[in-house]
Amino acid sequence: MSSTLVDPPDTTGPSGETKPADSPIEIHRHSSAHLLAAAVTELFPDAQCGIGPPTEDGFFYDFLVSRPFTPEDLVAIEKKMAHIVKQNRPIEKKLIPKAEALELFKGKGQTLKCQLIEEKSGDPVQCYTMGQFIDFCLGPHLASTGQIKAFKLKEGASQSYWKGKEGNPEMQRIYGYAFFTREELDQHLHRLEEAKRRDHRKLGRELDLFSVSDETGAGLILWHPKGGFIRKQIEDFWRDEHLKGGYDLVYSPHIAKIDLWHTSGHTQYYKANMYSPIEIEGVEYQLKPMNCPFHITIYRSRLRSYRELPFRYAELGTVYRFERSGVLHGLLRVRGFTQDDAHIFCRPDQLDAEILRVLDFVTMLLRAFGFDRYDICVSTKPVNASGSDEEWDVATAALKKALEVRGLAYVIDPGEGVFYGPKIDIKIKDSLDRAWQCSTIQVDFHNPNRFGLEYIGEDGKAHQPVMLHRALLGSLERFFGVLIEHYGGAFPLWLAPVQVVVVPVSEAQLDYATKVADKLRGAGIRVHLDDRGERMNYKIREAQSQKVPYMFVVGKLEAADAAVNRVSVRHRHAGDLGSGTTLDDWIRKISRLAAERAVSEGEEPMETAQAPKPSVPPPVPGGVS
Ligand SMILES: [Zn+2]
Ligand SMILES: [Zn+2]
Repeated sequence: MSSTLVDPPDTTGPSGETKPADSPIEIHRHSSAHLLAAAVTELFPDAQCGIGPPTEDGFFYDFLVSRPFTPEDLVAIEKKMAHIVKQNRPIEKKLIPKAEALELFKGKGQTLKCQLIEEKSGDPVQCYTMGQFIDFCLGPHLASTGQIKAFKLKEGASQSYWKGKEGNPEMQRIYGYAFFTREELDQHLHRLEEAKRRDHRKLGRELDLFSVSDETGAGLILWHPKGGFIRKQIEDFWRDEHLKGGYDLVYSPHIAKIDLWHTSGHTQYYKANMYSPIEIEGVEYQLKPMNCPFHITIYRSRLRSYRELPFRYAELGTVYRFERSGVLHGLLRVRGFTQDDAHIFCRPDQLDAEILRVLDFVTMLLRAFGFDRYDICVSTKPVNASGSDEEWDVATAALKKALEVRGLAYVIDPGEGVFYGPKIDIKIKDSLDRAWQCSTIQVDFHNPNRFGLEYIGEDGKAHQPVMLHRALLGSLERFFGVLIEHYGGAFPLWLAPVQVVVVPVSEAQLDYATKVADKLRGAGIRVHLDDRGERMNYKIREAQSQKVPYMFVVGKLEAADAAVNRVSVRHRHAGDLGSGTTLDDWIRKISRLAAERAVSEGEEPMETAQAPKPSVPPPVPGGVS
């Protein structure tokens, strides 16, 4: 898999590109890209420069070289860059007649630059110098290299293609991070480290939570017992809250006749996301990409009266959507996933209240998992959409109004609605301040129309209900991935598959340890008795690496307690908590925290790295809705 098949940023990249860098940090980062190119061409005189735009957290530059850069090369390049910064070379604009510029770059062996000048430049050609180094560029840049204060090259160059096209010459891309200050850079690097440490694919393996197997297929998740337990906890909570919230739980099959998907418009508007139909006795069936048509069919199964509305049908419905194998990513981009879906059928006069109700519900639900900061956007009519502009306007206004009533700030995401209606998307902020698309609330006038949905109004006549689609966690797979990274695998007590590990110091305490474990189990606490003949420290280390909240250690002293009420306690973050608290008190505390769904045990500063604000890496786009 070539991970660097990125289109060149045709509209954003200076250095031979068409649009100048604009914000101060972009100018800073782009100037750093020139610095990199200067260092590379001075160390590798044969290197040809491609393009070098700023990125979200730094810059990159593509080079055509006779051999890939080695790690040692990168160290030398970084050193050279630091040297050029020290020299404080001026970065100067030069306007050079086109013919002369072409000669100049040709003379330096920079044929790719000549190509860019031919394609993009007028006459004269705008260039910038940094000592001997010259680049074709619209700028702007910093005045001199001495103003570049904080940069670092990313380990390992990657492969790219000239102009991002496979088949074109293979280039070596060097990425760098660049910030205004050393402190910002260090914070960013720390956060990247932390993100790596929390990677849900890595933790999924280490904590034995889930896997993806070549034998079963890419993008299809296998939930292991511990991951499965956490899912069960999430599902139980979800179902209970939905019943309390006035929803009905429904179930629907994984396939349906293709005609159903013609009626819903999926075969017309959503084909690219669907798998090929399956033929059964001469009839085509479609693997479901969404649950909506099933819930609609349930609604249509009998006559509905205005007095009964709204109907709120909820389902943990597993759907299948096509994703290219290259974009699949752990739990975050998958081909089969379970949406925490619901469809609300209401009267037009109930729409505003129903949207508010969903908004309140989603914030309550997310809070239980420790998420209380959001980025919210309202997505408007896409190009390939069904329905009139007027219908879209009414629906979009209803969504905006609900957010305003609740005082929730939002931005507009133009053209990003679903084919059947506009939506509110809620991105949750995790402990590293990254935003993840999870919740969505969508208004739909299209499906009630296509399916001819009705209810009998007060006037005895048939009327059309409005439909709301909503998923709160989004998909269980994706949400689990976010949850793993948010907590770094150290799940709160109510989700933790094992809440307490009991560790006897030696075999002599095994009997007492068993009684402690029984007592915990009897109180409904999830306990594991580590009765292996390993050394105590080894067992504690292992429980620690498995992120078990509490370790109850019993040695000679504890085992002497006839009442079985004495344990020595360690907490996964706080370390040794001593033996001053009785087992009964611990049981009460753990039971209470789990019942309250507390997001931390209060023994610790939560395991979060307080993140600096600027330049958040982009969330992996997720296809949920
Ligand atoms: Zn430039
Ligand atoms: Zn739906």
